[in-house]
Amino acid sequence: MNRVIIASLLAFFTVYPQEAKRFNPNTARKVTFIIDPNYNGVAAASNGIIRYSPLWMLRNPNDIDVVTHEAFHIVQAYEGGAGPGWLTEGITDYVRYKYGVANAAGNWSLPDLKPEHSYTNSYRITGRFLAWLENNVNAKIVDSLDAALRSKAYTPETWVKLTGKTVDELWQDYTKNPKL
Ligand SMILES: [Zn+2]
Repeated sequence: MNRVIIASLLAFFTVYPQEAKRFNPNTARKVTFIIDPNYNGVAAASNGIIRYSPLWMLRNPNDIDVVTHEAFHIVQAYEGGAGPGWLTEGITDYVRYKYGVANAAGNWSLPDLKPEHSYTNSYRITGRFLAWLENNVNAKIVDSLDAALRSKAYTPETWVKLTGKTVDELWQDYTKNPKL
């Protein structure tokens, strides 16, 4: 497990400054890691603390970019209720896709769009939608959504302001030609 901890810390020092520079230069300067045997999830972040399950680390020793995901939750620093959870997690997995140091080795990638998907599926499915929007609709959309969430300015109208379309209309466009 020590190898996983060291690799995760190295990834943190690579990725966290990049995440901070692009999205929130005022992010926490102090981040605490806790390897918690009593924690049953994969990992979680709040109030500058990233909590890891040692069991997950043992079983998934190549999934280093869990730290890339969790570190971004600290960068986000959204207040409760700032926006829907699917968007918070979608932006976070978009960031893992962009900045992850070992996604392929961790067998992690954005999944191809399937007919049953929705933008509210959160995580990688929403992350892929955001990557598509960035490539095809508005190159600054993720930055703008993130800033709106952090400043508590986010509403469903934010999509219209940024693109001229509702999120449902954008998803329809995406399903017609989902190539990234
Ligand atoms: Zn998350």
